[in-house]
Amino acid sequence: MPIHAEHHPLVSLQAPEADMLARVQALVREQIGPQAEQVGREDVFAWDTFRLLADEGVIATAFPRSLGGTEASMLLRVRIIEELARACSTAASLVTGTDLSSRPIVAGGSDALRSEVVPKLATGAQQSAFALTEPGAGSDLAGLQATARRDGGHYVLNGAKKFITRAGVADMYVVVARLADGPAGSKGLSAFLVPRASAGVSVSPTIPKMGWNGVPIAQVCLDEVVVPVGNRLGEEGQGMALAQDTLVRARIGHAAIALGRMSGALQIAAQYADVRRVFGRAEGEHQGVQWMLADMGARIEAARCLVYACAQRYDRQDPDTSIHASIAKMHSTDLCMKVVVDCLQLLGGNGYLKAYPLERFMRDAKMNQIGEGTSEVHKNLIGRYLMKTAAAMPRHPCLDLEPDLFGAA
Ligand SMILES: Cc1cc2nc3c(=O)[nH]c(=O)nc-3n(C[C@H](O)[C@H](O)[C@H](O)COP(=O)(O)OP(=O)(O)OC[C@H]3O[C@@H](n4cnc5c(N)ncnc54)[C@H](O)[C@@H]3O)c2cc1C
Repeated sequence: MPIHAEHHPLVSLQAPEADMLARVQALVREQIGPQAEQVGREDVFAWDTFRLLADEGVIATAFPRSLGGTEASMLLRVRIIEELARACSTAASLVTGTDLSSRPIVAGGSDALRSEVVPKLATGAQQSAFALTEPGAGSDLAGLQATARRDGGHYVLNGAKKFITRAGVADMYVVVARLADGPAGSKGLSAFLVPRASAGVSVSPTIPKMGWNGVPIAQVCLDEVVVPVGNRLGEEGQGMALAQDTLVRARIGHAAIALGRMSGALQIAAQYADVRRVFGRAEGEHQGVQWMLADMGARIEAARCLVYACAQRYDRQDPDTSIHASIAKMHSTDLCMKVVVDCLQLLGGNGYLKAYPLERFMRDAKMNQIGEGTSEVHKNLIGRYLMKTAAAMPRHPCLDLEPDLFGAA
């Protein structure tokens, strides 16, 4: 069924993974779904939803067992995120955002730092935020300007980070900064764990935004902030590599959120069209409406296959996972934007009312096309990948062109 993933041939979860997914589905039905409208109304951190997800062990799925987590496969995480996002983007983004902000610590922290910090993140007792973007650099990460200066056993950090989700509630920030005496471009970037309580850290008031409520953003400024060398994540110069490792997971997460939301939107629109009568018949009996529903259903199912296959590639550690994460993210988030707009249209004036979730879905959908690499950035990555690999594609007698036909001789 295009609007639901039940019994999907690409997903065969056994206990205990299947039990975890069933628990999440029950949570969505009984608590998260009914509260979604209220949670999405105001842009204050959704503490109740976060605590619920932490208490139910959903937050822990992102973390290794050795550090207090339950280390779920990416496929299970995608299914969990999809189920949450069918009703509540905020709940889904609390799960993906926890992963985004803690992955560099898990992947790059020293053993001592990880065992001190990660178990608290896995239980939700503490939170981190990922501070990468700056006022002058978002897509173009090589242009980051925040600096880290080595001073004996410490680094001194300066700079400003914009759009930082959970900045106001996080206990610590993962900051990517440029080594003061390091090389230019992305090779000069390193990552650091900065406790929020450090002298010189300041956080702006919440920055109002269009949607994606419940996970507020703010600007974080660093003014001569001193952190011990032990708080460096990875080696000097590995900041970009850690960010990329983090972003691959986050992009799959965005694709899964978009998948869940558009499935929820289609369910609402199809059920509405089934009962709403126009021109003497159910709205859904009109062929024009059925074609809209059919286009959406078919494309959502294609997106679902793409997103699940990408999660499987991640779990198998395929070397091409990163480009498939770009493909899944671009395709699923762009499609979701179109689907929620069309589903809202199918509800007529009611779609425009706050009483129906589509108005919220539409505002939230825009964020998935922007965060963790815009659709344009992913298009660039996919295009470059195709060009890089074109010459190495296996030759095929029916597809080989004569070079003199297109002037390449
Ligand atoms: C709600 C929200 C939460 C966020 N949370 C976080 C967070 O927690 N941590 C964090 O570090 N960041 C966060 N971000 C920042 C987000 O990742 C960036 O906004 C995003 O990467 C885009 O960067 P930018 O805003 O600087 O846009 P720019 O890079 O300035 O891009 C502007 C426009 O130009 C386009 N563009 C750029 N380069 C090209 C190109 N080469 N070819 C074609 N088009 C191009 C872009 O697609 C975009 O449309 C958040 C953003 C939002 C809105």
